[in-house]
Amino acid sequence: MSEVITTGAGDRYHAADDCPALQSGRLGGEVQGYQLHGEQRFASAAEAEAAGWTPCGTCVGRR
Ligand SMILES: [Zn+2]
Repeated sequence: MSEVITTGAGDRYHAADDCPALQSGRLGGEVQGYQLHGEQRFASAAEAEAAGWTPCGTCVGRR
């Protein structure tokens, strides 16, 4: 079981801290002026989903 990360921009959670989608989400938020709520970490994907997050198609589910 590994922890997952959310960025506060979008509604996805990520399994890899270096996920390209996570990185572009960070950049996109800055470029577009979104208020970033900061990153949040969950102890597991199940916890993130229980909190309403959906899996990132890039880094979640190909382990
Ligand atoms: Zn991802």
